[in-house]
Amino acid sequence: AFDVLVVGGGPAGASAAIYAARKGLRTGIVADKFGGQVAETVGIENFISVKATEGPKLVANLEAHVHEYDVDIMDNQRALSLKSGELFELELESGAKLRSKTVLLATGARWREMNVPGEQEYRGKGVAYCPHCDGPLFKGKSVAVIGGGNSGIEAAIDLANIVEHVTVLEFDTNLRADEVLQRKAASMGNIKIITQAMTTEVVGDGKRVNGLNYTDRATGESHHLELAGIFVQIGLMPNSEWLKETISLTERGEIIVDGKGETSLPGVFAAGDVTNSAYKQIIIAMGSGATASLGAFDYLIRHSAP
Ligand code: FAD
Repeated sequence: AFDVLVVGGGPAGASAAIYAARKGLRTGIVADKFGGQVAETVGIENFISVKATEGPKLVANLEAHVHEYDVDIMDNQRALSLKSGELFELELESGAKLRSKTVLLATGARWREMNVPGEQEYRGKGVAYCPHCDGPLFKGKSVAVIGGGNSGIEAAIDLANIVEHVTVLEFDTNLRADEVLQRKAASMGNIKIITQAMTTEVVGDGKRVNGLNYTDRATGESHHLELAGIFVQIGLMPNSEWLKETISLTERGEIIVDGKGETSLPGVFAAGDVTNSAYKQIIIAMGSGATASLGAFDYLIRHSAP
């Protein structure tokens, strides 16, 4: 059995595993895909002390750092359920069952999808979730941003500097973004905001996106927009569905943790984007991974036999 079994191989999980291994604890990492969201990131300029790097490079560094220690890495393995008992039991999609004295959940988050026809078909062919990654591909073209929250308006402002025109489609009657972001967006000549717009379909020529259809919720009328790209910014979903019967989550599905990263289930800790931490960033995920790992160590010295 493990002392600390980390679920998730993003920055939070990697950091947690290193901290646990450095305590001499038997440590394992189960990851659906090692690297997590960082693997999808192009430029990273806010990882303090590293002026600029790229996602795949940072993932390679994370992996190399974890490999410096005696950590059992189980990549391409998905956790399905967690049971408590004398030892915690983590069941994997492969059918394997892993046992551990403590569990550290660092399963991250993913962008919410619109679930409309065409979205999956044109994913990566005009449908994007990451303005930082894909913005430059639409230089000189028209795009839409779906969602008028902070991430949507931030994306629109970001994209407006690169692309020709940005249309923001907000489902509600009002934007939910901070005032300062709304003012900034309004001051930019190439951002148009449409409220009460329900996107109904992503349209393309079979190869790439060339437009979208939406319904004006006030009038019920359907409209078509011609554009080359659609950035979906309607929220980040924590990867915690498989835990909802086991531990306490917020309304949004985030794992609730205390100051030591402990969840509602003693001996189970959590870190990174899957938790109710205030902001979702690499440096924050790594810091919380360290906190939760030290929390697990603390738990073990109090609860486990010598
Ligand atoms: P994640 O990185 O999401 O990793 C989660 C891990 O858990 C993955 O290994 C995943 O495969 C695994 N997993 C999930 N479910 C299961 C399961 N059931 N079983 C097993 N494993 C599972 N932050 C910055 O600081 N700077 C940036 O420039 C920046 N740019 C970004 C650009 C993009 C496109 C995106 C998407 C995010 C960006 N972020 C950036 C945010 C940053 O990537 C995240 O805050 C950070 O990766 C969160 O780390 P994490 O370890 O909590 O989760």
